[in-house]
Amino acid sequence: MPALLDGLNASQRAVVAHPGGPLLVVAGSGTGKTRTLTERFAWLVEQGTPAECILALTFSDPAAAAMRAKLETLLDAPYEELNVLTFHSFCVKLLQDEALEAGVDPFFSPVTPADRLALLLDRIDELSLRHHEIRGNPAPLLGSFVSRIDRLKQEMVSAEDVLAWAERLPADSDAERASACREREFAGLYRDHDRLLDERGALDYGDLVVRAFRLLYECPHVRERAGRRFRHVLVDEYQEATYAQRMLLHLLADEHDGVTVVADDERLSEEWPGAEIARLERNVRSGRRILDAAAAVKPPDRKLTGASGGRVRFWRCRSERAQAQAVAAEIERLLADGVQPEEVCVLVRSVKDEAATVAAALEERAVPFRTCGAAAYFQRAEVRDVLAWLRALADPNDSGAVVRALNRPPIELRSVDVARLTQLARRRKLDMPSAVAAALEGPQLSEEGRDRARAFLRLYRSASTAFEDRRPDAFVMRLIERIGLRRQQVFATHADTVERLRNIAKLPELASAYMRREPQATARDFARYLAAVAESGLREDEAVGQPSAAAVPVMTMQAARGLQFDHVFVLGLSAAAMPGPYRPRAGDVPDELRRSPRPDHEAEMRRLLHLAITRARRSLVLAWPEEGQRPSPFYEEAREAVGVEEEVFEEELFGPAEGLHSTFRLMRDELLDTVARVGGRLGEMRLDTYLDVDQAMARYLELIKVAALIERAREGQTLDAALPEVNEILAQCATPEQREIFQESGLDGWLRDTGRDPAAKPAGSGNGSDASLDPFIPRRGRGLMLSASDLDTYRICPLKYKFARVFRIPQEPTIHQRFGIVVHQVLERFHQAGGGPLSRLKELFEISWRRSGFGGSDDEQQFRERAIEALERYWRLDRESDSEPVWFERSFAFKLGPHLLRGRVDRVDRHPDGSYELIDYKTGKAKTSEELREDVQLSLYQMGARESWRLETSAQSYFYVLTGEKVPVEHSEEELDRVKETVAEIAGGILKQRFEPTPSPDICRLCDYRIICPAAEK
Ligand code: SF4
Repeated sequence: MPALLDGLNASQRAVVAHPGGPLLVVAGSGTGKTRTLTERFAWLVEQGTPAECILALTFSDPAAAAMRAKLETLLDAPYEELNVLTFHSFCVKLLQDEALEAGVDPFFSPVTPADRLALLLDRIDELSLRHHEIRGNPAPLLGSFVSRIDRLKQEMVSAEDVLAWAERLPADSDAERASACREREFAGLYRDHDRLLDERGALDYGDLVVRAFRLLYECPHVRERAGRRFRHVLVDEYQEATYAQRMLLHLLADEHDGVTVVADDERLSEEWPGAEIARLERNVRSGRRILDAAAAVKPPDRKLTGASGGRVRFWRCRSERAQAQAVAAEIERLLADGVQPEEVCVLVRSVKDEAATVAAALEERAVPFRTCGAAAYFQRAEVRDVLAWLRALADPNDSGAVVRALNRPPIELRSVDVARLTQLARRRKLDMPSAVAAALEGPQLSEEGRDRARAFLRLYRSASTAFEDRRPDAFVMRLIERIGLRRQQVFATHADTVERLRNIAKLPELASAYMRREPQATARDFARYLAAVAESGLREDEAVGQPSAAAVPVMTMQAARGLQFDHVFVLGLSAAAMPGPYRPRAGDVPDELRRSPRPDHEAEMRRLLHLAITRARRSLVLAWPEEGQRPSPFYEEAREAVGVEEEVFEEELFGPAEGLHSTFRLMRDELLDTVARVGGRLGEMRLDTYLDVDQAMARYLELIKVAALIERAREGQTLDAALPEVNEILAQCATPEQREIFQESGLDGWLRDTGRDPAAKPAGSGNGSDASLDPFIPRRGRGLMLSASDLDTYRICPLKYKFARVFRIPQEPTIHQRFGIVVHQVLERFHQAGGGPLSRLKELFEISWRRSGFGGSDDEQQFRERAIEALERYWRLDRESDSEPVWFERSFAFKLGPHLLRGRVDRVDRHPDGSYELIDYKTGKAKTSEELREDVQLSLYQMGARESWRLETSAQSYFYVLTGEKVPVEHSEEELDRVKETVAEIAGGILKQRFEPTPSPDICRLCDYRIICPAAEK
């Protein structure tokens, strides 16, 4: 482990090496508080506390992932597992581990706000909504109820509390009576909401914390157990914790004094009366002037010291578009100067309302960007494409969805044909798919349009057939393949390819998660659910926090917590928006029911802007759009403190003054899209494929043309002089068809028209063109994080590893795999609760079977019978065995060279002679020892036991649950050497991004990626 205290200042060091006792660290933004907390974790491990005995609680999943990744690099010593969790995931863990004591379903899965909305929509007939305005679409209203229930649960206010309060409301006037009715109705809906969750054995995020609190409060022995298990609790950003989370933490902290809480507010010391207080007062992030602006907006409890420098600018923009254009132009300049896009950030109050204008301006300049946050996922083009198909299938009258499906790849019907179809649908009162069919009978469509319309109908009809009876996850996966979305992306070389693929991959994941909660749901149910979620604006957790392609993030100020950037633009700082008037959210938590003080609106807004400002390291722009408004008073306060003049920006009516460089970037990105599409289509049986290829080739020649013009401009040649010469050379390289397209293009006129200064900017290297997969490879320090299954996947085929682990394309689980998961879960839960009679094992199996969505098909029934038989045999063998099972599902993590190897062993038995055997359950067909000669998994487990648990084992085997066979695998030092070599070799290949396919009929036949794999095509 590197010397932990190196590079820290004195105050940070004092926190890291705090000898013991409760500690409250009061730390402002940029003082390195998360780093200090992470180093404290590592220091505690260095001092002898086992890593698994430290619980670190963070405020979001990405923050937890970042801290975990940092620790995985920092910790050299082996350990079992790292408990770096959000409050919610900690509660899930606690409730699952203590399911019996907590009285929860041992297989419960937490439900998201989106799930709950879908549930309410589904059961709307059972809800009373007479006193609320539905306005034709219940989703927004129910969505607001879901959010309100969340806020109430954060304050530990139950449905009964709300009802009792509503009963006491005054009813002296009509308005008061109406309001009281609405509140009583809401209380009833809150109760129904909880009842519906209860019927499913589901817990929402609010329930998780309340149930975990209740468990620790009512069961002192469980609290004691938790206190022994987590000897140290480290909490980051404590000021963000809700009332319920704070109560839970106090219960945990009651068990010992190993609590370190980091917060940015000195007043929180009142909550920790006995705690020692440490302060981090040196800002190590932002330049002095940035800190001055931040301090003007929210004066710190104590003045922070920091380095000099930092640039702050204040922009008055004539309109929102002027603001977006100014930002885009400035970012383009930064990128041209070599700044990486991910070092720049644009912050807004609402992505939903403000990001579109910024996105348009960035797009005009071909600046790579990425909108992030709650609403952003469903706004991504690739996600909207799938959603459009799902909506069109669920409701053929959803013309918007059908038109998008017709417009976008793979159909790409021309606009004129789409217009004809919508006209036909209107005139004849047909839904859109029927209008497409009718148009094929008549003369409305062009010849090419008819081909495309036929392709649409083929796809639509075959998808409709599968829509009613396929499992949602399998259906979505097939749909994605059928519309060729993934295929286009796999061929693409965009820098954001992996991101798009992961966005696409998230859809089947959402479907699988939905299936876990609604085992009997059809694809139609899922389509309805997804459409409601997308419309309601409720958060559906997206893949945030994942390494991202080089792109400028556009996000909300809140979402930027924990992040930092060299250059930050904070937009929309008019008085109307910051602080804006206090508008109580429809149905906030009533003051009488609140257990924590109501936050003061202005103070909240000051904190928010302060948070946004302190994200900046080197430069900060605060901007506001005029449009008849006044600037935010906070903006003015900051300007006065920094003492600089406002800069004024007008709207550019004709868009940015494009240079040849931005033209080049635009065309390059378009070309990559074209190439992706054409590549994706080459496998289709279409007669006009050659046309697409010629088009793509002509676009490629144009791109070369712009590149040549840039070079010639550098040498001093004018555009008019260079164009004919370059055109002539390029035309010689093209086929007659390509030449025709090339010569007919309007590019030359457009280039001449705009009178640009090509030499003004250098080529924009690094603007998203780097297609390296590096950010998506699971690095830990100089090495990789690897599991036995990663090694196995790469060994089978490196390209398969790329699909599965880099692109993270989910595999459609086979019935065997789903069955395997059920059996594993049942055995895990059975042993976790201390075993018991056969009836308990069977009962767990029944619950798990039902929850896994297995139906009554012959195939499934056969699996069920085999499983029951197998579990009976397992239970008997277990009782008859001389060996004693000592651990189940025990984790390990250790370093092998620079690489971190992780895994979890199903079971460890102690034999009568005192030796230990590692056992891994399998539900497939038994393999022979000979077939397992190349196996790496169990030897890796052997190393894990030795390193992480300090346990020498004497044997290892696979236990085939269905047949009761136990197949031993060689357990020797030579084997370990072989596996170490294998790990080094595979890790080297991954680090060098060697993902060449190794196709073979036997392997490809069983590979889930064969449909998108170019190597599988012959
Ligand atoms: S289909 Fe074959 S070549 Fe392609 S990824 Fe799968 S195993 Fe590799």
